[in-house]
Amino acid sequence: MSLIEDLVASYRILAEHGVIDGYGHVSVRSERDPKRYYLSRSLAPELVTENDILEFDLDSNPVTAGNQPLYLERFIHGEIYKSRPEVNAVVHNHSPSVIPFGVTSVPLKPIFHMAAFIGVGIPTFEIRKTQKGSDMLIRTPRLGAALARSLGPKPAALMRGHGSVVVGEDLQRAVGRSMYLETSARLQMQAMLIAGPRGKITWFDAAEVKASVPRQDYARAWDLWRKKALERIKAER
Ligand code: MN
Repeated sequence: MSLIEDLVASYRILAEHGVIDGYGHVSVRSERDPKRYYLSRSLAPELVTENDILEFDLDSNPVTAGNQPLYLERFIHGEIYKSRPEVNAVVHNHSPSVIPFGVTSVPLKPIFHMAAFIGVGIPTFEIRKTQKGSDMLIRTPRLGAALARSLGPKPAALMRGHGSVVVGEDLQRAVGRSMYLETSARLQMQAMLIAGPRGKITWFDAAEVKASVPRQDYARAWDLWRKKALERIKAER
């Protein structure tokens, strides 16, 4: 059981469940040096193995020189680790059901216990406030820092017209939150459709959010997802 193995499993888990596809990435902070983190070289998540994991400093420069292509958006990870000392894992995804909530005035709300963390408040990052006419990608440290400021102390932020970023104290929380953010967005759309403009939807109240969030570590699901992912990797060899 190593951190790198858990990181590789995270790529496979999120790809398997459609939270990331050919794009999207996961990183984890180094246990040895909090000013370093691990992220794959530029590769589709389903292909990532331990050999593809590189170490980066918090300016998102690879620690070991090489000429492998890197994710253009690696600054998302480094800049969040700089601003959030308690965060040890970051997921960037284009999770489809979440996108509509980043482009409308309809906020994501806590509707489902597995994603009660939504009740803490999920901000939306507007890239135009930092750079007009961008291609939406977080290609520079400046854009990464602006995204980290939008995220603030929250567990996730939507990125308008692009995707989202989800963080946690460890990989299992960052991965679990990413999985259930997608599910919860879909459930909210379904509830809004059923309720229609006049129907009532009962959201979590503040006390329910407060009671649910600290307890939810996704441990049982993580053990299952991880076991299945590692079995699939083993079968490929
Ligand atoms: Mn992206």
